[in-house]
Amino acid sequence: MTTHNQFSRCVAQYDPHALPVSAAQAIVRQWATPVTAIERVALRDALDRVLAADIVSPIDVPAHDNSAMDGYAFNGAALALNGNAAAGVNAVELTIAGKALAGHPFAGRVDLTQCVRVMTGACMPADCDTVVPQELVERAADATLIRFPAHTVKAGANRRLAGEDLARGHAALRAGRVMRASDLGLLASLGIGEVNVRRRLRVAFFSTGDELRSLGEPLEPGCVYDSNRYTLFAMLRRLNVDTLDLGVVRDEPAALEAALRNAAASADVVLTSGGVSVGEADFTRQLLHTFGDVAFWSLAMRPGRPLAFGRVWSGERPGAGSPALFFGLPGNPVAVMVTFYQIVRDVLLLMAGTTPLPLPVIHATSRQAIRKRAGRTEFQRGVAERDAQGQWHVTPTGSQSSGVLSSMSEANCFLMLGHDQADIAEGERVDIMLFDGLI
Ligand code: AMP
Ligand code: MG
Repeated sequence: MTTHNQFSRCVAQYDPHALPVSAAQAIVRQWATPVTAIERVALRDALDRVLAADIVSPIDVPAHDNSAMDGYAFNGAALALNGNAAAGVNAVELTIAGKALAGHPFAGRVDLTQCVRVMTGACMPADCDTVVPQELVERAADATLIRFPAHTVKAGANRRLAGEDLARGHAALRAGRVMRASDLGLLASLGIGEVNVRRRLRVAFFSTGDELRSLGEPLEPGCVYDSNRYTLFAMLRRLNVDTLDLGVVRDEPAALEAALRNAAASADVVLTSGGVSVGEADFTRQLLHTFGDVAFWSLAMRPGRPLAFGRVWSGERPGAGSPALFFGLPGNPVAVMVTFYQIVRDVLLLMAGTTPLPLPVIHATSRQAIRKRAGRTEFQRGVAERDAQGQWHVTPTGSQSSGVLSSMSEANCFLMLGHDQADIAEGERVDIMLFDGLI
């Protein structure tokens, strides 16, 4: 585990007043320690879980060579023997020796003058390595004979080989994989009905602020409903982690301390929102230093400038009780979502035991001029569409204020305006990170 001193050192390498986003991403990733506990679950319950160990195929899939078409199986050597190109005949004639259906193999043998009627998935009969599709043959009226031009198939055609999908003894799926529909089917094809997965990551979260009211409470003047707990809940659910909603905590040291220590006792990661901006950070900082290793960052990022990060403990000092990774996110609703996706998401997936692929970034042309200051990374919200020529265009959603959550709801992508990038002209190329349906 990384120690308090290592952490202080790695933070000190950067300007504490404006830590670049890439530096913050690199630091937090170093702190991710994957959960180790394993659970054995039925195949259906493995969907979206993280595979704990490689799955080695116990069998060949398919188990036998089989036909890929409805047609006639025969020995490919018959093509050269029967075709008589010199005489201009070039036709192959074979007598039908029997049939094989999926699940009902043909038990006999065939010679070079014979074939076997086969349906898709039927085992290739002994001596046969080639299938001519039924639509390419002429059949005698009494159904004893087929005839087809020799050039219509090559020897070995239309046959699936044993082990072609998965070979016995080879890894069919690797540990760390987040199980998808195809994986469930693949394991079923191996006859595997249960798998070992990592236990779900546990993430506790709460909101801080005297002005916050929970749903169902009256909204007094100057108060706002707590929306962050709902966006956090939903973003966490999408990652298939266990969530623990600890409600709203007032801006009081004792309440905050109790909530944090309680969260550290029951979760692997604690997320809070609010209380880390310049005015409030001192109070939170003082408190957190008594039982955690926490740094307060000013990120060169918009939205999401203030962020606290480190480790908190359920005991009375760092090292006492059980630890949890801690992210103190800003209070503004859009900043919560942006910091979650840009800073927190990868760490949660690493801790869950998988190695996340970055969300896809593509090029688009901006339909509007965009004001952007060099020296910080901006994640504006935008609506992207693709024109008939396949070119992507993006329009920023209206207000980019970090309190305007509707700009996030309207959007289907982030405009990724890089650290060194300045103003963008209409028609200029920008990177966008599509998120519709992905997060
Ligand atoms: P803070 O970071 O605590 O200074 O909060 C910044 C802004 O975000 C203030 O306008 C807060 O009222 C607002 N805010 C903080 N927490 C929440 C929340 N959970 N839901 C909605 N707005 C919030
Ligand atoms: Mg606050």
